[in-house]
Amino acid sequence: MSDRRYEFSWALLGDTQTGRPNLGPNTRLEVYRLMQFTLRDVMESRLGADETDQIFYEAGKLAGAEFYRRYFADGTDFNAFVRNLQSTLREMGIGILRVEEADVERGSFVLTVSEDLDCSGLPELGYQICTYDEGFIAGVLESYTGGPLKVKEVDCWCTGDRTCRFRAEASH
Ligand SMILES: [Zn+2]
Repeated sequence: MSDRRYEFSWALLGDTQTGRPNLGPNTRLEVYRLMQFTLRDVMESRLGADETDQIFYEAGKLAGAEFYRRYFADGTDFNAFVRNLQSTLREMGIGILRVEEADVERGSFVLTVSEDLDCSGLPELGYQICTYDEGFIAGVLESYTGGPLKVKEVDCWCTGDRTCRFRAEASH
């Protein structure tokens, strides 16, 4: 595609210090969710639910890879990486990460995110909705391990659980 306007770069996010001297870098959570769920509504009515989920997964994955590149690119051992990731996700108000299982060599992980940005407090829907997070976790972990992973959310606030649980497996 030659007419790309928004190929991702951090520069697109702008200089928040100069741009918001009074309001600063934070906004309210419902503003983020308003953006996400209205976008999801319009995409779903045009593209269908499955295609929308795939786009959210892919966008999350791009975000995860860019996030890794920006904050964690200086490859350390796994425990240091996880500690670093935990504190960054917490500081930025994305969620509280725990690693329940990790086999870096096999590429197999179980992670939980509590107080998740996307879904904590949402109504119970009977299905997992954190598709963007699945992609995000895939993007971050793939960047660390260097191999392709498939991430699936198995528990979610929206399925009545109080934490989101994600299973990541190597996909060759
Ligand atoms: Zn969830």
